[in-house]
Amino acid sequence: MTKLIMTFPVTETSHTLASYRSRGGYATLERVVREMRPEDVTREVTAAGVQGRGGAAFPAGRKWSVIKLNDGQPHYLCANADEGEPGTFKDRWILENAPHLLLESMLIAAYALQVRHAFVYMRGEFDLPYRRLASAIDEATAAGLMGERILGSAFDCDVLIYRGAGSYVCGEASALLTSIEGKRGYPRNRPPRLTVRGLYQRPTVVNNVETLSNITGIVRDGAAAFRAVGTADSPGTRLVSVSGHVNRPGVHEIDLGYAFERLLDDCGGVLDGRALKAVIPGGISSKVLTGDEIMPLALDHESLAAAGSSLGSGGMIVIAEGTCMVRLLQVMLRFYHHESCGQCTPCREGMGWLHRIIDRIVAGEGRPEDIDRLYRISAANDGTTICGLGDAAGYATSGILNKFRPEFEYWIEHKRSRFDGNLVCRASS
Ligand code: SF4
Repeated sequence: MTKLIMTFPVTETSHTLASYRSRGGYATLERVVREMRPEDVTREVTAAGVQGRGGAAFPAGRKWSVIKLNDGQPHYLCANADEGEPGTFKDRWILENAPHLLLESMLIAAYALQVRHAFVYMRGEFDLPYRRLASAIDEATAAGLMGERILGSAFDCDVLIYRGAGSYVCGEASALLTSIEGKRGYPRNRPPRLTVRGLYQRPTVVNNVETLSNITGIVRDGAAAFRAVGTADSPGTRLVSVSGHVNRPGVHEIDLGYAFERLLDDCGGVLDGRALKAVIPGGISSKVLTGDEIMPLALDHESLAAAGSSLGSGGMIVIAEGTCMVRLLQVMLRFYHHESCGQCTPCREGMGWLHRIIDRIVAGEGRPEDIDRLYRISAANDGTTICGLGDAAGYATSGILNKFRPEFEYWIEHKRSRFDGNLVCRASS
């Protein structure tokens, strides 16, 4: 079974082609181009049941299966390396430490999907990840692993990096493709799905970096080996980036279904021995859970969904007792307001409205009716916008209000935080 971190322990040279090949790197690509048909690869990925690791958890094989082979038109593949969800930094780990794993996996995916040109849409702020991936592409091209007649076969494919310019919404799959086309990175209305009309109006698969990085292991070891880890509905492992109030923040690889309590132990527990107040389990677009709610949970899609949240992007933000949730929501709403692209009225107007209300509360000018107003504006975004940003901001707001309403009421009544100025929100600056 592939374990991304165990297979690729970080060393000074783990990002290089020599290191990757010394661990059997590119042997799977060689077998694929020599012995497998494209549909065999897709069948294995579908059987593995690997779900998207970027947030939506959509099964990758089902997405790939929509692409019609030999239909006479170009197909595109794009790795989403925009990783802008606050609290999430696990794809960065792959790009910095195992860029050849991503490239081999992308080439296998490109073979399965009959893609000649594949893209990596990379977050503009990423510097080391960009240099490492660009260098890996140069190495692979020079070694005949990329470009024309890969490994002497009839398969041609180039991987190109496209760097974003700092827009959160360009991490949304359709906005990302629009950005590659050289236009303003607006999300698109769907249907049509991107697998039908994506980049340059051609069938396109967009997968998250971690999702793609699982492909080599799935094809090498088989779907059954992938499914041997995790749960029936959430197979495989998951990279989780843990930040906030823990003693050892960082990227951890867990088997899906791993106990949250064990992961917290792995991170050295809550900072300064404080009690656990809350956790945002999957980036700020997933709903907050109280410490009591998450402590007994297993970390898999079904358990988190049953608790009213999600594993999302794998960006776990741990919040210690004593943190002011009013200030935390203020930070989050400032972010959503700043990042709204402005296409949809409920999001464009609603984000500004939510932000102004929370600022007013923090300034000591809140009114008792402001809490219900925050709820109403949040609900107005639900299902009424082109992309998920409007929904996410609404869920984040109502989620925090549902669980920590007394803190908002206290601030409005007393014109200050319940926490005597302890407003440290290391969680999501
Ligand atoms: Fe833009 Fe917001 Fe509409 Fe998304 S929901 S398309 S970010 S205005």
